[in-house]
Amino acid sequence: MFDQRNHKQSIVTRVAQALHFVEAETGAVIPSIQPSATYARDDNYEIRKPYWYRRDGSQTTAHAEAIIAELENAESSLLFSSGMSACTAVIEHLPAEAHVVVPKVMYHGVLQQIQKYESNKRIVVSSYQAGNLQELTAVVRMGQTQLVWVETPNNPNWEVTDITAAAEIAHAAGAKLFADCTGTPPCMTKALDLGADISFHSATKYLNGHSDITAGVLSVKKVDQFWEDIVRVRKLQGTVLHSQDAWLLIRGMRTLFLRVEKSCQNAMAIAKHFEGHKYIKAVLYPGLPSDPGYEISKRQTGGQFGGMMSLIIKGTEQNAVDVARFCKLFYPATSLGGVESLIEHRKTVSGEGFPVHPGLLRLSIGIEDPDDLIYDIEQSLSQTFGDA
Ligand SMILES: *Cc1c(COP(=O)(O)O)cnc(C)c1O
Repeated sequence: MFDQRNHKQSIVTRVAQALHFVEAETGAVIPSIQPSATYARDDNYEIRKPYWYRRDGSQTTAHAEAIIAELENAESSLLFSSGMSACTAVIEHLPAEAHVVVPKVMYHGVLQQIQKYESNKRIVVSSYQAGNLQELTAVVRMGQTQLVWVETPNNPNWEVTDITAAAEIAHAAGAKLFADCTGTPPCMTKALDLGADISFHSATKYLNGHSDITAGVLSVKKVDQFWEDIVRVRKLQGTVLHSQDAWLLIRGMRTLFLRVEKSCQNAMAIAKHFEGHKYIKAVLYPGLPSDPGYEISKRQTGGQFGGMMSLIIKGTEQNAVDVARFCKLFYPATSLGGVESLIEHRKTVSGEGFPVHPGLLRLSIGIEDPDDLIYDIEQSLSQTFGDA
């Protein structure tokens, strides 16, 4: 029955209306961009709160942060000029010689950054196979580990880690759990509700969704000393998101739920089509019931499975490069989470030292017609293997 008093607005509505924004003076339903680098003091020479210099943020970045905080059920969210600068703020904040646990296979940029801090002897690093909780338990050091890093699903194998179980393991050792859920944005995975202490997304990807900004966001359930330190790191490193980019992010997020739903549907259709295909050795997609991450993913990604997958092509490494090269619709480009579909030979990008299958192609599925996307890969496979 229609309950007039107890109706709670859906997050879908809140995000579509950018938190029901209306500009007080004009009634405009779209926020303006506040580009000011500095703010004048008042008549008593007091600083007008909350802003006084651009490195603290602006009303435009704060508006985008408020939307993400609602999506994440977070007390606070902080936007950075890239995903990498957000991750770096957390790594930089760690005390000297802190023990950190990371997946063996993860986003290569973050891994490189962690390895740099490790080789400078700033931190001590142990690693575990993504998704493998026994290995995670074995490498965590009681009372010593400061941070456990989870990337789920991980790049580019899309292995799923149980966030709640990983949080229990981290907390038992006295560590915080950091969850990079860029592959499944907060309309699907709410990492803080699942037990993570810090949720991270590269907002360059699904949150913005239009491949026209770089941005990163950290969120926490509770503001504490750790969080205040991170706020200071962002301010002193000068890595706050630009106002113009925050404005594009606000616009992009209005369609988050629609875009992600369509990407997930398209990805499922493509994964099913290519599973068992004569030129494909494996389809790495947690939405396939045959995938080892299927059950956990079903629980932790809201019944959708994401728009990211990888195909391992049969034959040589050059065959895989050719499949990416011969696509006419998929862009042969890096990044993910945009409305346009991308294909990438991952080994070419991550280099020799990174553990990735030489035949692996990473697909970011957009919102195009799924038949067009399937046809494009089929024609490319035919051209590659000479049966066109
Ligand atoms: C892209 C990405 C990052 C880094 O974010 P940028 O916005 O590119 O700096 C970190 N983690 C994952 C999983 C990513 O996909």
